[in-house]
Amino acid sequence: MDDYKIIVISGPSGVGKTTIYKQILQEYSNNISFSISATTRKIRDGEEDGKDYYFLSVEEFKQLIDKDDFIEWECVHNNYYGTLKSEIYRIWKMGKHGLLDIDVRGGLHIKEIFGDKSFLVFIAPPSMSELENRLRNRGTCAGEALKRRLDNAAIEMEQQDFYDTVLKNEHVTIAVTELKKQIKKYIAKKPLL
Ligand code: 5GP
Repeated sequence: MDDYKIIVISGPSGVGKTTIYKQILQEYSNNISFSISATTRKIRDGEEDGKDYYFLSVEEFKQLIDKDDFIEWECVHNNYYGTLKSEIYRIWKMGKHGLLDIDVRGGLHIKEIFGDKSFLVFIAPPSMSELENRLRNRGTCAGEALKRRLDNAAIEMEQQDFYDTVLKNEHVTIAVTELKKQIKKYIAKKPLL
């Protein structure tokens, strides 16, 4: 499984990273598979257990921490989120690279563990005011929750320089084209182990 890699996509909530990486997953479905994280947050409308996330109770999540079943886990917006070791092995065993949608702390943790076997992509908004507009227009987040997401976004933005690449999501099509180019280039490279 030496040739298989991990692609991490991070960026503030509302930046549009899901739209971007779903197009990547669709186009490269033979080579790249989404890593389903475990979380304790409540399931949202339209989400499916075992597809979007493995939805767990806090108790269940903590048991997995105790069993050392996570590659990395974090508390994000007051909920637990984590990448299971079994999930990465499942993807690699299928002969594919894993794509992870995780927060910046999780991404940096992955880099520490996997080094050049991982490629960290930070999706940035055109500006913080544009990010605030996007979050407001989503209608799912207001008041305290909006403030918490914006505060968290500011902290995440400070870490972008530690990522392998930063893509500004001004126009989705341009961002997707650029990301495809960079992923193809990265995957073609042998890991420097
Ligand atoms: P949401 O609840 O909106 O799906 O995700 C909230 C945040 O948690 C996002 O920034 C997402 O990237 C992050 N996240 C999702 N899964 C994981 C994970 O397994 N590990 C870490 N560290 N962050 C995650």
